[in-house]
Amino acid sequence: MSISWPRLAHLRHVLGRRSLRGSASWMRLLSFSPVSWLCARQGNGAGSLAPGGTIFALSSGQGRCAIAVIRTSGPASGLALRSLTAAREPPPARSACLRLLRHPRSGEPLDRALVLWFPGPQSFTGEDCVELHVHGGSAVVSGVLQALGSVPGLRPAEAGEFTRRAFAHGKLSLAEVEGLADLIHAETEAQRRQALRQLDGELGQLCQDWVKTLNKALAHVEAYIDFGEDDNLEEGVLEQADRDVRALEAALRSHLWDARRGQRLRSGVHVVVTGPPNAGKSSLVNLLSQKPVSIVSPEPGTTRDVLETPVDLAGFPALLSDTAGLREGVGAAEQEGVRRARQRLEQADIILGVLDASDLASPSSCSFLNTVVAPLVTQSPDSSRQRLLLLLNKSDLLSTNASAMDTALPPHMLLSCRTGAGLDNLLQALKTELAVVCGDPFTGAPVLTRARHQHHLQGCLDALGHFQPDTDLALAAEALRQARRHLSHLTGGGGTEEILDLIFQDFCVGK
Ligand code: GDP
Repeated sequence: MSISWPRLAHLRHVLGRRSLRGSASWMRLLSFSPVSWLCARQGNGAGSLAPGGTIFALSSGQGRCAIAVIRTSGPASGLALRSLTAAREPPPARSACLRLLRHPRSGEPLDRALVLWFPGPQSFTGEDCVELHVHGGSAVVSGVLQALGSVPGLRPAEAGEFTRRAFAHGKLSLAEVEGLADLIHAETEAQRRQALRQLDGELGQLCQDWVKTLNKALAHVEAYIDFGEDDNLEEGVLEQADRDVRALEAALRSHLWDARRGQRLRSGVHVVVTGPPNAGKSSLVNLLSQKPVSIVSPEPGTTRDVLETPVDLAGFPALLSDTAGLREGVGAAEQEGVRRARQRLEQADIILGVLDASDLASPSSCSFLNTVVAPLVTQSPDSSRQRLLLLLNKSDLLSTNASAMDTALPPHMLLSCRTGAGLDNLLQALKTELAVVCGDPFTGAPVLTRARHQHHLQGCLDALGHFQPDTDLALAAEALRQARRHLSHLTGGGGTEEILDLIFQDFCVGK
Protein backbone atom coordinates (compact mmCIF):
# COMPACT_ATOMS: atom_id res chain seq x y z
CA MET A 1 0.00 0.00 0.00
CA SER A 2 1.29 3.43 -0.77
CA ILE A 3 0.16 6.96 -0.01
CA SER A 4 0.86 9.84 -2.36
CA TRP A 5 2.84 12.80 -1.06
CA PRO A 6 -0.05 15.28 -0.98
CA ARG A 7 -2.27 12.69 0.69
CA LEU A 8 0.40 11.99 3.26
CA ALA A 9 0.84 15.68 3.97
CA HIS A 10 -2.90 16.04 4.32
CA LEU A 11 -3.06 13.16 6.78
CA ARG A 12 -0.17 14.60 8.72
CA HIS A 13 -1.97 17.92 8.79
CA VAL A 14 -5.28 16.47 9.96
CA LEU A 15 -3.86 13.95 12.37
CA GLY A 16 -1.32 16.40 13.71
CA ARG A 17 -4.20 18.58 14.84
CA ARG A 18 -5.83 15.68 16.61
CA SER A 19 -2.79 15.34 18.84
CA LEU A 20 -1.83 12.00 17.39
CA ARG A 21 1.74 13.14 16.97
CA GLY A 22 4.07 10.37 17.97
CA SER A 23 1.21 7.95 18.63
CA ALA A 24 1.13 4.42 17.26
CA SER A 25 -1.54 5.24 14.65
CA TRP A 26 0.46 8.16 13.41
CA MET A 27 3.57 6.05 13.09
CA ARG A 28 1.60 3.38 11.22
CA LEU A 29 0.50 6.00 8.72
CA LEU A 30 4.00 7.32 8.35
CA SER A 31 5.32 3.87 7.65
CA PHE A 32 3.52 3.86 4.29
CA SER A 33 5.96 6.43 2.91
CA PRO A 34 9.40 5.23 1.88
CA VAL A 35 10.99 8.48 2.95
CA SER A 36 9.33 8.44 6.34
CA TRP A 37 10.41 4.85 6.66
CA LEU A 38 13.97 5.96 6.03
CA CYS A 39 13.52 8.82 8.48
CA ALA A 40 12.22 6.42 11.09
CA ARG A 41 15.20 4.12 10.56
CA GLN A 42 17.44 7.10 11.03
CA GLY A 43 15.78 7.76 14.32
CA ASN A 44 14.44 11.11 13.16
CA GLY A 45 10.99 9.88 12.13
CA ALA A 46 9.02 10.88 15.21
CA GLY A 47 11.23 13.86 15.93
CA SER A 48 10.70 15.08 12.40
CA LEU A 49 7.08 15.83 13.20
CA ALA A 50 8.08 18.86 15.21
CA PRO A 51 7.36 22.12 13.39
CA GLY A 52 11.00 23.16 13.04
CA GLY A 53 13.82 21.33 11.31
CA THR A 54 14.68 21.17 7.66
CA ILE A 55 11.93 20.33 5.23
CA PHE A 56 11.96 19.03 1.68
CA ALA A 57 9.36 18.48 -1.01
CA LEU A 58 8.73 18.23 -4.70
CA SER A 59 7.75 21.81 -5.56
CA SER A 60 6.81 21.34 -9.21
CA GLY A 61 3.66 19.42 -10.21
CA GLN A 62 3.16 15.70 -9.75
CA GLY A 63 3.49 13.34 -12.69
CA ARG A 64 5.96 12.79 -15.50
CA CYS A 65 7.52 15.97 -16.85
CA ALA A 66 10.81 17.21 -18.33
CA ILE A 67 12.14 18.91 -15.21
CA ALA A 68 11.05 18.58 -11.59
CA VAL A 69 12.08 21.00 -8.85
CA ILE A 70 12.75 19.67 -5.37
CA ARG A 71 13.35 22.16 -2.59
CA THR A 72 14.65 22.12 0.94
CA SER A 73 14.46 24.79 3.60
CA GLY A 74 16.09 24.90 7.02
CA PRO A 75 19.45 24.74 8.74
CA ALA A 76 20.41 21.30 7.39
CA SER A 77 19.93 22.36 3.74
CA GLY A 78 23.67 22.87 3.24
CA LEU A 79 24.40 19.46 4.74
CA ALA A 80 21.80 17.88 2.46
CA LEU A 81 23.36 19.49 -0.61
CA ARG A 82 26.86 18.44 0.38
CA SER A 83 25.67 14.90 1.14
CA LEU A 84 23.96 14.46 -2.22
CA THR A 85 26.76 16.03 -4.27
CA ALA A 86 29.57 14.45 -2.24
CA ALA A 87 31.18 17.90 -1.93
CA ARG A 88 32.88 19.61 0.99
CA GLU A 89 31.43 23.02 0.14
CA PRO A 90 28.12 24.06 -1.34
CA PRO A 91 28.31 25.69 -4.82
CA PRO A 92 28.44 29.50 -5.09
CA ALA A 93 25.28 31.13 -3.73
CA ARG A 94 22.40 31.74 -6.15
CA SER A 95 24.13 30.28 -9.21
CA ALA A 96 22.94 27.24 -11.11
CA CYS A 97 25.59 24.50 -11.21
CA LEU A 98 25.45 21.09 -12.84
CA ARG A 99 26.17 18.31 -10.33
CA LEU A 100 25.90 14.54 -10.16
CA LEU A 101 23.49 13.63 -7.35
CA ARG A 102 24.17 10.41 -5.46
CA HIS A 103 22.40 8.64 -2.64
CA PRO A 104 24.39 9.68 0.46
CA ARG A 105 24.41 6.13 1.87
CA SER A 106 24.77 3.81 -1.07
CA GLY A 107 26.63 6.24 -3.34
CA GLU A 108 24.28 5.17 -6.12
CA PRO A 109 24.06 7.85 -8.88
CA LEU A 110 20.56 9.34 -9.01
CA ASP A 111 20.64 12.06 -11.67
CA ARG A 112 22.74 14.83 -13.18
CA ALA A 113 20.91 17.92 -11.99
CA LEU A 114 21.09 21.69 -11.75
CA VAL A 115 21.55 22.65 -8.12
CA LEU A 116 21.06 26.06 -6.54
CA TRP A 117 22.16 27.12 -3.09
CA PHE A 118 20.34 30.01 -1.40
CA PRO A 119 21.91 30.76 2.00
CA GLY A 120 19.46 32.48 4.35
CA PRO A 121 18.23 35.07 4.87
CA GLN A 122 18.34 35.87 1.15
CA SER A 123 15.97 33.09 0.14
CA PHE A 124 12.26 32.61 -0.35
CA THR A 125 11.73 31.34 3.20
CA GLY A 126 14.49 33.40 4.81
CA GLU A 127 16.24 30.12 5.78
CA ASP A 128 19.03 28.21 4.04
CA CYS A 129 17.40 26.72 0.95
CA VAL A 130 18.40 24.36 -1.81
CA GLU A 131 16.74 23.80 -5.16
CA LEU A 132 17.43 20.65 -7.16
CA HIS A 133 16.26 20.78 -10.78
CA VAL A 134 16.19 17.09 -11.65
CA HIS A 135 14.85 15.16 -14.63
CA GLY A 136 11.11 14.72 -14.14
CA GLY A 137 10.76 10.91 -14.28
CA SER A 138 9.04 9.44 -11.23
CA ALA A 139 11.99 7.12 -10.45
CA VAL A 140 14.41 10.07 -10.36
CA VAL A 141 12.08 12.18 -8.23
CA SER A 142 11.34 9.46 -5.70
CA GLY A 143 15.04 8.47 -5.61
CA VAL A 144 16.10 12.04 -4.79
CA LEU A 145 13.29 12.42 -2.21
CA GLN A 146 14.38 9.20 -0.54
CA ALA A 147 17.98 10.35 -0.57
CA LEU A 148 16.98 13.63 1.12
CA GLY A 149 14.95 11.70 3.69
CA SER A 150 18.09 9.79 4.64
CA VAL A 151 19.96 12.99 5.58
CA PRO A 152 19.79 13.57 9.35
CA GLY A 153 17.52 16.44 10.32
CA LEU A 154 15.44 16.43 7.13
CA ARG A 155 11.75 15.63 6.95
CA PRO A 156 9.02 15.92 4.28
CA ALA A 157 7.28 19.31 4.22
CA GLU A 158 3.63 19.78 5.02
CA ALA A 159 1.23 21.63 2.72
CA GLY A 160 2.15 25.32 2.50
CA GLU A 161 5.07 24.92 4.91
CA PHE A 162 7.61 26.73 2.71
CA THR A 163 5.30 29.74 2.45
CA ARG A 164 4.47 29.53 6.14
CA ARG A 165 8.17 29.79 6.93
CA ALA A 166 8.51 32.74 4.54
CA PHE A 167 5.67 34.41 6.44
CA ALA A 168 7.21 33.55 9.82
CA HIS A 169 10.50 35.14 8.74
CA GLY A 170 8.78 38.31 7.56
CA LYS A 171 9.46 37.59 3.87
CA LEU A 172 5.75 37.81 2.99
CA SER A 173 2.81 39.57 4.61
CA LEU A 174 -0.44 37.70 5.09
CA ALA A 175 -1.99 39.53 2.13
CA GLU A 176 0.98 38.48 0.00
CA VAL A 177 0.58 34.87 1.18
CA GLU A 178 -3.07 35.01 0.09
CA GLY A 179 -1.96 36.48 -3.24
CA LEU A 180 0.48 33.59 -3.67
CA ALA A 181 -2.23 31.03 -2.88
CA ASP A 182 -4.50 32.69 -5.43
CA LEU A 183 -1.71 32.78 -7.99
CA ILE A 184 -1.19 29.03 -7.64
CA HIS A 185 -4.92 28.47 -8.16
CA ALA A 186 -5.44 31.17 -10.81
CA GLU A 187 -7.20 29.72 -13.82
CA THR A 188 -7.92 32.83 -15.84
CA GLU A 189 -5.97 35.81 -17.05
CA ALA A 190 -7.83 38.22 -14.75
CA GLN A 191 -7.34 36.01 -11.67
CA ARG A 192 -3.61 35.78 -12.40
CA ARG A 193 -3.24 39.56 -12.72
CA GLN A 194 -5.23 40.15 -9.57
CA ALA A 195 -3.19 37.58 -7.60
CA LEU A 196 0.09 39.06 -8.87
CA ARG A 197 -0.97 42.51 -7.73
CA GLN A 198 -1.77 41.18 -4.29
CA LEU A 199 1.48 39.21 -4.22
CA ASP A 200 3.33 42.42 -5.06
CA GLY A 201 2.04 43.65 -1.74
CA GLU A 202 -0.30 46.38 -2.97
CA LEU A 203 -2.97 45.57 -0.42
CA GLY A 204 -0.34 45.40 2.33
CA GLN A 205 1.09 48.76 1.22
CA LEU A 206 -2.35 50.30 1.29
CA CYS A 207 -2.94 48.95 4.81
CA GLN A 208 0.40 50.35 5.96
CA ASP A 209 -0.61 53.80 4.73
CA TRP A 210 -3.90 53.50 6.62
CA VAL A 211 -2.08 52.38 9.77
CA LYS A 212 0.26 55.37 9.46
CA THR A 213 -2.75 57.71 9.36
CA LEU A 214 -4.20 56.01 12.44
CA ASN A 215 -0.88 56.17 14.29
CA LYS A 216 -0.57 59.87 13.58
CA ALA A 217 -4.11 60.57 14.73
CA LEU A 218 -3.56 58.44 17.85
CA ALA A 219 -0.33 60.28 18.65
CA HIS A 220 -2.19 63.60 18.41
CA VAL A 221 -5.05 62.43 20.61
CA GLU A 222 -2.71 60.94 23.21
CA ALA A 223 -0.58 64.06 23.21
CA TYR A 224 -3.72 66.06 23.82
CA ILE A 225 -4.74 63.76 26.67
CA ASP A 226 -1.28 64.13 28.26
CA PHE A 227 -0.46 67.76 27.58
CA GLY A 228 -3.65 69.44 26.35
CA GLU A 229 -4.36 71.21 29.55
CA ASP A 230 -0.81 72.58 29.77
CA ASP A 231 -1.43 74.48 26.57
CA ASN A 232 1.87 73.19 25.18
CA LEU A 233 0.34 71.87 22.00
CA GLU A 234 -0.07 73.53 18.65
CA GLU A 235 -3.50 74.81 17.82
CA GLY A 236 -5.85 72.56 15.89
CA VAL A 237 -4.16 69.21 16.64
CA LEU A 238 -7.43 67.48 17.42
CA GLU A 239 -9.20 69.05 14.45
CA GLN A 240 -6.45 67.77 12.14
CA ALA A 241 -6.76 64.24 13.63
CA ASP A 242 -10.51 64.39 13.11
CA ARG A 243 -10.09 65.47 9.47
CA ASP A 244 -7.55 62.66 8.81
CA VAL A 245 -9.81 60.04 10.37
CA ARG A 246 -12.85 61.17 8.36
CA ALA A 247 -10.77 61.06 5.15
CA LEU A 248 -9.65 57.57 6.09
CA GLU A 249 -13.25 56.54 6.68
CA ALA A 250 -14.15 57.70 3.17
CA ALA A 251 -11.26 55.71 1.67
CA LEU A 252 -12.22 52.57 3.59
CA ARG A 253 -15.84 52.96 2.52
CA SER A 254 -14.92 53.13 -1.13
CA HIS A 255 -12.78 50.00 -0.81
CA LEU A 256 -15.54 48.18 1.00
CA TRP A 257 -17.97 49.20 -1.66
CA ASP A 258 -15.54 47.59 -4.09
CA ALA A 259 -15.00 44.43 -2.07
CA ARG A 260 -17.63 42.22 -3.76
CA ARG A 261 -15.82 42.77 -7.04
CA GLY A 262 -12.57 41.29 -5.77
CA GLN A 263 -14.35 38.30 -4.31
CA ARG A 264 -16.16 37.67 -7.59
CA LEU A 265 -12.86 37.80 -9.41
CA ARG A 266 -11.45 35.23 -7.04
CA SER A 267 -14.37 32.79 -6.92
CA GLY A 268 -16.11 33.38 -10.25
CA VAL A 269 -18.94 35.57 -11.49
CA HIS A 270 -22.39 33.96 -11.52
CA VAL A 271 -23.63 34.12 -15.10
CA VAL A 272 -27.10 32.64 -15.44
CA VAL A 273 -28.70 31.76 -18.78
CA THR A 274 -32.46 32.08 -18.70
CA GLY A 275 -35.40 32.37 -21.07
CA PRO A 276 -38.50 30.54 -22.27
CA PRO A 277 -38.26 26.88 -23.31
CA ASN A 278 -36.61 26.08 -26.64
CA ALA A 279 -35.05 29.54 -27.08
CA GLY A 280 -31.54 28.02 -27.31
CA LYS A 281 -30.31 28.40 -23.70
CA SER A 282 -28.56 25.03 -23.61
CA SER A 283 -27.08 25.67 -27.05
CA LEU A 284 -25.65 28.95 -25.72
CA VAL A 285 -24.18 27.32 -22.59
CA ASN A 286 -22.50 24.68 -24.76
CA LEU A 287 -21.23 27.33 -27.15
CA LEU A 288 -19.73 29.51 -24.39
CA SER A 289 -18.22 26.62 -22.46
CA GLN A 290 -17.08 24.87 -25.63
CA LYS A 291 -18.23 21.53 -24.31
CA PRO A 292 -21.51 19.58 -24.28
CA VAL A 293 -22.65 20.60 -20.79
CA SER A 294 -26.39 20.53 -21.55
CA ILE A 295 -28.63 18.40 -23.71
CA VAL A 296 -29.85 20.34 -26.75
CA SER A 297 -33.23 19.18 -27.97
CA PRO A 298 -36.22 20.55 -29.92
CA GLU A 299 -38.40 19.16 -27.15
CA PRO A 300 -39.35 21.95 -24.70
CA GLY A 301 -38.62 21.32 -21.02
CA THR A 302 -35.49 19.17 -21.53
CA THR A 303 -33.37 21.05 -18.96
CA ARG A 304 -34.93 20.53 -15.54
CA ASP A 305 -32.18 21.04 -13.01
CA VAL A 306 -29.65 23.87 -12.82
CA LEU A 307 -26.51 22.78 -14.69
CA GLU A 308 -23.42 24.68 -13.67
CA THR A 309 -20.04 24.78 -15.35
CA PRO A 310 -16.94 26.90 -14.62
CA VAL A 311 -15.76 28.78 -17.72
CA ASP A 312 -13.15 31.32 -18.70
CA LEU A 313 -15.19 34.11 -20.28
CA ALA A 314 -12.99 36.64 -22.06
CA GLY A 315 -10.27 36.09 -19.44
CA PHE A 316 -12.60 36.34 -16.44
CA PRO A 317 -13.65 33.40 -14.27
CA ALA A 318 -17.35 32.62 -14.41
CA LEU A 319 -19.78 30.00 -13.22
CA LEU A 320 -22.19 29.53 -16.11
CA SER A 321 -25.60 28.10 -15.22
CA ASP A 322 -28.11 26.60 -17.62
CA THR A 323 -31.62 26.69 -16.18
CA ALA A 324 -35.04 25.26 -16.97
CA GLY A 325 -37.13 27.24 -19.48
CA LEU A 326 -39.50 29.58 -17.66
CA ARG A 327 -43.13 28.67 -18.32
CA GLU A 328 -46.32 28.03 -16.38
CA GLY A 329 -48.78 25.13 -16.34
CA VAL A 330 -46.32 22.27 -16.49
CA GLY A 331 -45.92 18.99 -14.59
CA ALA A 332 -44.52 18.75 -11.05
CA ALA A 333 -40.93 17.89 -12.06
CA GLU A 334 -40.67 20.75 -14.54
CA GLN A 335 -42.33 23.10 -12.06
CA GLU A 336 -39.57 22.30 -9.57
CA GLY A 337 -37.05 23.04 -12.35
CA VAL A 338 -38.70 26.42 -12.94
CA ARG A 339 -38.58 27.17 -9.19
CA ARG A 340 -34.87 26.37 -9.10
CA ALA A 341 -34.27 28.46 -12.20
CA ARG A 342 -35.94 31.48 -10.56
CA GLN A 343 -33.93 30.92 -7.38
CA ARG A 344 -30.68 30.81 -9.36
CA LEU A 345 -31.69 33.93 -11.22
CA GLU A 346 -31.80 35.82 -7.92
CA GLN A 347 -28.16 34.88 -7.23
CA ALA A 348 -26.92 35.93 -10.68
CA ASP A 349 -24.39 38.70 -11.18
CA ILE A 350 -24.96 38.70 -14.94
CA ILE A 351 -28.11 37.38 -16.63
CA LEU A 352 -28.10 36.21 -20.22
CA GLY A 353 -31.76 36.39 -21.25
CA VAL A 354 -32.34 34.28 -24.36
CA LEU A 355 -35.34 34.59 -26.67
CA ASP A 356 -36.12 32.85 -29.95
CA ALA A 357 -35.88 35.71 -32.47
CA SER A 358 -38.33 33.94 -34.78
CA ASP A 359 -40.90 33.49 -32.03
CA LEU A 360 -41.05 36.80 -30.20
CA ALA A 361 -44.83 36.99 -30.22
CA SER A 362 -45.38 33.63 -28.48
CA PRO A 363 -47.00 33.71 -25.00
CA SER A 364 -43.83 32.33 -23.36
CA SER A 365 -41.63 35.04 -24.98
CA CYS A 366 -44.06 37.81 -23.98
CA SER A 367 -44.34 36.48 -20.45
CA PHE A 368 -40.52 36.34 -20.15
CA LEU A 369 -40.21 39.91 -21.42
CA ASN A 370 -42.82 41.16 -18.95
CA THR A 371 -41.90 39.23 -15.84
CA VAL A 372 -38.10 38.87 -16.06
CA VAL A 373 -36.69 41.40 -18.52
CA ALA A 374 -38.84 44.45 -17.69
CA PRO A 375 -38.05 44.53 -13.91
CA LEU A 376 -34.32 44.14 -14.66
CA VAL A 377 -34.34 46.94 -17.21
CA THR A 378 -36.14 49.32 -14.86
CA GLN A 379 -34.07 48.53 -11.72
CA SER A 380 -32.26 51.43 -10.09
CA PRO A 381 -28.69 51.82 -11.39
CA ASP A 382 -26.89 51.16 -8.09
CA SER A 383 -23.76 49.11 -7.67
CA SER A 384 -25.48 45.89 -6.66
CA ARG A 385 -27.84 45.70 -9.59
CA GLN A 386 -27.88 42.57 -11.71
CA ARG A 387 -26.66 43.10 -15.23
CA LEU A 388 -28.72 41.85 -18.16
CA LEU A 389 -27.73 41.01 -21.71
CA LEU A 390 -30.78 40.25 -23.82
CA LEU A 391 -30.08 37.92 -26.74
CA LEU A 392 -32.34 37.20 -29.69
CA ASN A 393 -31.15 33.76 -30.72
CA LYS A 394 -31.83 31.84 -33.94
CA SER A 395 -31.12 34.93 -36.04
CA ASP A 396 -30.36 32.53 -38.86
CA LEU A 397 -34.11 31.86 -39.09
CA LEU A 398 -34.91 35.51 -39.74
CA SER A 399 -35.27 36.56 -43.34
CA THR A 400 -32.72 39.31 -44.14
CA ASN A 401 -35.27 42.11 -44.09
CA ALA A 402 -37.37 40.78 -41.23
CA SER A 403 -37.38 43.16 -38.32
CA ALA A 404 -36.69 41.27 -35.16
CA MET A 405 -35.46 44.56 -33.78
CA ASP A 406 -38.81 45.62 -32.58
CA THR A 407 -38.37 49.13 -31.21
CA ALA A 408 -40.47 48.19 -28.18
CA LEU A 409 -37.80 45.69 -27.12
CA PRO A 410 -35.15 46.73 -24.61
CA PRO A 411 -31.54 46.88 -25.90
CA HIS A 412 -30.61 43.46 -27.29
CA MET A 413 -28.17 41.58 -29.50
CA LEU A 414 -28.79 39.18 -32.35
CA LEU A 415 -27.18 35.77 -32.11
CA SER A 416 -27.23 32.44 -33.82
CA CYS A 417 -25.92 29.57 -31.76
CA ARG A 418 -26.21 27.47 -34.89
CA THR A 419 -23.97 29.57 -37.16
CA GLY A 420 -22.00 31.47 -34.53
CA ALA A 421 -23.12 34.82 -35.97
CA GLY A 422 -23.12 37.50 -33.26
CA LEU A 423 -20.89 35.50 -30.90
CA ASP A 424 -17.99 37.98 -31.11
CA ASN A 425 -20.33 40.84 -30.21
CA LEU A 426 -21.69 38.85 -27.30
CA LEU A 427 -18.19 38.06 -25.98
CA GLN A 428 -17.19 41.71 -26.27
CA ALA A 429 -20.31 42.81 -24.36
CA LEU A 430 -19.71 40.11 -21.75
CA LYS A 431 -16.13 41.28 -21.27
CA THR A 432 -17.34 44.81 -20.61
CA GLU A 433 -19.94 43.61 -18.10
CA LEU A 434 -17.46 41.27 -16.39
CA ALA A 435 -14.94 44.07 -16.01
CA VAL A 436 -17.64 46.13 -14.28
CA VAL A 437 -18.66 43.25 -12.03
CA CYS A 438 -15.10 42.15 -11.13
CA GLY A 439 -13.13 45.36 -11.43
CA ASP A 440 -10.27 45.56 -13.88
CA PRO A 441 -7.22 44.00 -12.22
CA PHE A 442 -4.95 46.05 -14.52
CA THR A 443 -6.08 49.36 -13.12
CA GLY A 444 -7.90 50.91 -10.17
CA ALA A 445 -7.32 50.38 -6.50
CA PRO A 446 -6.28 46.90 -5.37
CA VAL A 447 -9.53 45.13 -4.70
CA LEU A 448 -10.10 43.08 -1.58
CA THR A 449 -10.43 39.47 -2.64
CA ARG A 450 -11.60 37.68 0.47
CA ALA A 451 -14.47 37.89 2.93
CA ARG A 452 -11.78 38.14 5.63
CA HIS A 453 -10.51 41.41 4.14
CA GLN A 454 -14.02 42.78 4.03
CA HIS A 455 -14.69 41.72 7.62
CA HIS A 456 -11.64 43.52 9.03
CA LEU A 457 -12.15 46.59 6.92
CA GLN A 458 -15.75 46.80 8.15
CA GLY A 459 -14.50 46.30 11.73
CA CYS A 460 -12.01 49.13 11.25
CA LEU A 461 -14.72 51.38 9.86
CA ASP A 462 -17.11 50.53 12.71
CA ALA A 463 -14.40 51.36 15.24
CA LEU A 464 -13.74 54.70 13.57
CA GLY A 465 -17.45 55.44 13.94
CA HIS A 466 -16.75 55.70 17.70
CA PHE A 467 -14.00 58.26 17.19
CA GLN A 468 -15.60 61.38 18.68
CA PRO A 469 -12.70 63.53 19.97
CA ASP A 470 -15.03 66.40 20.92
CA THR A 471 -16.86 64.23 23.49
CA ASP A 472 -14.52 61.73 25.14
CA LEU A 473 -10.81 61.69 24.30
CA ALA A 474 -10.05 58.40 26.08
CA LEU A 475 -12.80 56.62 24.13
CA ALA A 476 -11.66 58.26 20.91
CA ALA A 477 -8.11 56.96 21.45
CA GLU A 478 -9.45 53.47 22.15
CA ALA A 479 -11.50 53.61 18.93
CA LEU A 480 -8.30 54.34 16.98
CA ARG A 481 -6.49 51.45 18.66
CA GLN A 482 -9.37 49.11 17.87
CA ALA A 483 -9.36 50.26 14.24
CA ARG A 484 -5.61 49.67 14.06
CA ARG A 485 -6.04 46.14 15.44
CA HIS A 486 -8.40 45.30 12.60
CA LEU A 487 -5.93 46.52 10.03
CA SER A 488 -3.10 44.55 11.58
CA HIS A 489 -5.26 41.41 11.39
CA LEU A 490 -5.72 42.12 7.71
CA THR A 491 -2.01 42.04 6.99
CA GLY A 492 -1.28 39.27 9.46
CA GLY A 493 0.43 41.36 12.14
CA GLY A 494 -2.13 40.30 14.71
CA GLY A 495 -2.98 37.05 12.93
CA THR A 496 -4.24 34.16 14.95
CA GLU A 497 -3.26 30.56 14.34
CA GLU A 498 -6.74 29.70 13.04
CA ILE A 499 -6.56 32.31 10.29
CA LEU A 500 -3.10 31.12 9.32
CA ASP A 501 -4.29 27.51 9.23
CA LEU A 502 -7.22 28.46 7.02
CA ILE A 503 -5.02 30.27 4.56
CA PHE A 504 -2.24 27.73 4.44
CA GLN A 505 -4.59 24.83 3.92
CA ASP A 506 -5.13 26.21 0.37
CA PHE A 507 -1.51 25.44 -0.45
CA CYS A 508 0.03 22.34 -1.90
CA VAL A 509 3.06 20.50 -0.54
CA GLY A 510 6.24 22.12 -1.80
CA LYS A 511 4.90 25.67 -1.78
P1 GDP B 1 -33.38 25.50 -24.59
O1 GDP B 1 -34.58 24.68 -24.34
O2 GDP B 1 -33.67 26.96 -24.45
O3 GDP B 1 -32.21 25.06 -23.77
O4 GDP B 1 -33.00 25.30 -26.15
P2 GDP B 1 -31.98 24.30 -26.82
O5 GDP B 1 -30.60 24.81 -26.76
O6 GDP B 1 -32.22 22.91 -26.31
O7 GDP B 1 -32.45 24.42 -28.35
C1 GDP B 1 -33.77 24.15 -28.71
C2 GDP B 1 -33.77 23.87 -30.20
O8 GDP B 1 -33.37 25.05 -30.90
C3 GDP B 1 -32.79 22.77 -30.62
O9 GDP B 1 -33.38 21.98 -31.62
C4 GDP B 1 -31.62 23.55 -31.17
O10 GDP B 1 -30.91 22.82 -32.15
C5 GDP B 1 -32.31 24.75 -31.80
N1 GDP B 1 -31.43 25.94 -31.83
C6 GDP B 1 -30.68 26.44 -30.85
N2 GDP B 1 -30.02 27.53 -31.28
C7 GDP B 1 -30.37 27.71 -32.57
C8 GDP B 1 -30.02 28.69 -33.56
O11 GDP B 1 -29.24 29.62 -33.37
N3 GDP B 1 -30.63 28.55 -34.78
C9 GDP B 1 -31.49 27.56 -35.05
N4 GDP B 1 -32.01 27.51 -36.26
N5 GDP B 1 -31.82 26.65 -34.13
C10 GDP B 1 -31.28 26.70 -32.92
